[in-house]
Order: sequence, then C-alpha cells, then structure tokens
Amino acid sequence: MDHAVGRPVDQRVIDAMLPFMNSSYGNPSSLHVFGQEAKHALEEARTRVADLINAERKESVIFTSGATESNNMAIKGVVYRNKDRGTRTITSSVEHMSVVNTCKFLTTRGFETVFLPVDSFGFVGLEDLERELTDKTVLVSIVYANGEIGTIEPIREISKKVHEKNAFLHVDATAACGQVPIDVRREGIDLLTLSSNDMYGPRGVGALYVKEGIRLEPLLHGGGQERGLRSGTENLPSIVGFGKAADLSKNEMKDESERLTRLRDRFIDGLLKPLPYSFLNGHPTKRLPDNVSVRYSFIEGESMLLGLDMMGVFASSGSACTAKTLEPSHVLLAIGLKHEEAHGSLMFTLGRQNAEEDVDYAISLMPNIVKRLRAISPLTPKELNM
Ligand code: PMP
Repeated sequence: MDHAVGRPVDQRVIDAMLPFMNSSYGNPSSLHVFGQEAKHALEEARTRVADLINAERKESVIFTSGATESNNMAIKGVVYRNKDRGTRTITSSVEHMSVVNTCKFLTTRGFETVFLPVDSFGFVGLEDLERELTDKTVLVSIVYANGEIGTIEPIREISKKVHEKNAFLHVDATAACGQVPIDVRREGIDLLTLSSNDMYGPRGVGALYVKEGIRLEPLLHGGGQERGLRSGTENLPSIVGFGKAADLSKNEMKDESERLTRLRDRFIDGLLKPLPYSFLNGHPTKRLPDNVSVRYSFIEGESMLLGLDMMGVFASSGSACTAKTLEPSHVLLAIGLKHEEAHGSLMFTLGRQNAEEDVDYAISLMPNIVKRLRAISPLTPKELNM
C-alpha cells in the first residue's frame, strides 16, 4: 500500500519491451531497415503517450529519463529561452522537490520565484495567483495533484489566469497520470510532466509534453535526438514499455479509478471512525483515487509504520524523497499542520494489486497500533488512556 514510491511493471508491458532488448536492438537514428524498425517502435510509443493526454500531435511528446528530468527541462528550458520576456516564475508550496529545488536553483542565477500558499486542503488560491501574475511572469508551474495528500488542483481555472497574462503553464502530472483523465488541450496546459512507472511502466523513463510553438533551451546537448530537445540515444525498450503502459492506462483507467475510489473511501472511513483525534489530510473528494493520507494526534507516523510493517502492511509517512530527513514534509506544513501534526501522518497509496480484504486487514490493525503508541506517548491527554 505504498505504490507512490514504486509500482510493479505490468506483465503486458514487460512482454512488449522484451523484443527491444534482444532481437530488435536497432537504433532509431540508423537508416537501415533494422534502425527503421526501431524508429517505428519509438514513434508508436510517442503516439500512445500523446493519445493518453490528447496532445495535438505526437511530436509534442519528448521522452526523458523520468519526472525529475521533465520538470527540470520544462522549468529551466522555458525560463532560459524566454528570459527576454520576463524573469519571474510562479509555483506553489505543495510541489515535488524536483520543482521546488529547480526553482530555488534559478533564484541563484538571477531569476525570481514566487511560492504560492495553499489552503488547508492544499488548493492553490486563484486570487493569490492573480495577484502575483505580473507582466514579468514567464512561467507558472503547478502540480496536477500532489502525491502526498492527493489534492487535485483546479488546473483549468489556473490556466485561464495564466494565459490572461500571456505566461506559460507547466503542470507536473506525475502522481496523477494514469489515474485521472488529463486532456492538455481542454485544460489549457502548455507543458506537462509524465512518468512511466506511475502507470505500471518501467522506471527511468518519462516524458515532457511541449505544446507546439513553445521554445525551450535544451538541458542536454549532443546528437540532436528528440527534436534537438533531449540528445542521447533513446532508451527504446523502456520507451516502448512506457507507450504500452500509457495505452493500457487509457483503456483501463475508468474502471480501475472507480474501483480504487471505492476502496479509498472505505479505507479512510475505516481508519478514522474507530479512533478519536484522527483526521484526513487533503480534500475528501477532489483527491487522487489511490491516495489515503491520515493523521493521528499525539503519536508519530514512523512508529505506526513500523507497527504496520511487522504485520505485513507497507505504508509511508510522507514522500519517499524526504523520508530520509527528520524534517516533516513541506507539503503537510504548507496545508497548515503544526510540526507534531505533520509527524503524526500516515500515507497509503493503493494500486492494482490491492483488494478489499487488504484494506480491511490494514483497518483492523490500526486501533491496536494507535492505542499502544498513545499509551506510551507523553503527549496523550490522560482521559484518552483511561
Ligand atoms: N513529481 C511528483 C508529483 C512526484 O510525486 C514525483 C515522485 N514520484 C516526482 C515528480 C519525481 O519522480 P522521479 O523521482 O521518478 O523523477
């Protein structure tokens, strides 16, 4: 129940990838038949990813090594290339570190970044955005849905405001892709980050959608692959796997998301109802179908995790990217939680393998774990332990 940190690769994806590791190992840049076979597979995968997000043309999809690279490429690429138009970037305080740290880096190179606050659900405020959108703003980068608390941002409304000021909108859809339908044209998205593993494809491959006409400075210079925007021999087996995963997601997303939403709501209910001083993080309905983020007062997420781990349930206390630090997650602090509240958080992310009995089993474990930890916590009010 910790799918946000990694998902198994779908067997149908593995089957699609295998030939490109042995019998069909051509390089898409070669002119001979072997190379052209590879080129065909590369372009088919591009079409599949483009179709998933309703891109206007397949050439708008650039393959990368994953979401971190796509986020870096979108933000640095647009800001460097368009610095004559302005030097200001706006982002939110619930972004992944690959956005946060890219924006912070840019401030050391003479660019300006504004981190918008969010409300207690994690929504970016449209008035805040409007106020900060000056004529100098070249890019706004907002997460489609935060992977830690699951809140889905109002992208279409954000896009309207951004375009009124002639800025570009980049959306990090890593946690959302494959779970909720994303339509770059209908939602007015100029650049979109996607990741393969979040759709049960292989790791180490992702994509950046770049709307036609938007100019980027490349991060990698070399042989000019990917329309010169991302040089380097294409990772064909993984790209083919990503294409297959995108295709499967497109066809299976509706049923699977409905199933996960039912499981999610059953899980949230079962975790919160039996225990006082327990709360949901994020919005109850405008949230990713797989995300269950809760908190219990007076105790620590890590101790609950260990209790669950001993019983064979694997969860997380926040983003894997910040799990090694003792600092609470910046996302939980941004929604207004105090340090001790953030530390009492527990995050489950459901996936294709999880069924109702898994959820019911995890629910059955929590009262004992929480009561035991509260009994030894100095923060627990006396009446709760009586
Ligand atoms: N953006 C978001 C919203 C994420 O949740 C993650 C982590 N899965 C990333 C970006 C970075 O992904 P990766 O580490 O695969 O590059």
